[in-house]
Amino acid sequence: MMTCCFCQSSIKFLVTIHLRYEEFNFSFFNAFNSDLLCVSCATKKHIEDFEKHGRKIITKENDEIKVKWDVYLSGKGEELFIVSNILLSLGILSRDPKGNWSLLEDGSPRMPRYKGEICYFTRREDAVEYHRVFYGELQSFKREIWNINQIHSL
Ligand SMILES: [Zn+2]
Repeated sequence: MMTCCFCQSSIKFLVTIHLRYEEFNFSFFNAFNSDLLCVSCATKKHIEDFEKHGRKIITKENDEIKVKWDVYLSGKGEELFIVSNILLSLGILSRDPKGNWSLLEDGSPRMPRYKGEICYFTRREDAVEYHRVFYGELQSFKREIWNINQIHSL
């Protein structure tokens, strides 16, 4: 029997939780890191994480989600991990490369990560802004932003 690591109630399945909170639509699993949570605790934790760490990076303007990538990139450790998780739950980042955006510099992607795994941008404008912040406005850089359309399944 699996139990919630917060409240010890029993958990039957790993589920996807769809949460409408204020003007945001989140989709996430009832898990955090390697811990399983019940739906109620997972929902509560996601809102707390959003309030504590997501708010300063994520806003909504004219029905569109805006991300302050400069603030994201100044984050570290646990906080960066939590914010990446929130961005994944909002569909701003994706662990699936297909149809999404990546930056390539010197042949190595320096992308947002979640648990060490590369996250891809679902919107081109985020990839562009991330690239601009990462390499600096004044630096002359070769802009390489790739849309990944051809992923061959192994
Ligand atoms: Zn619980």
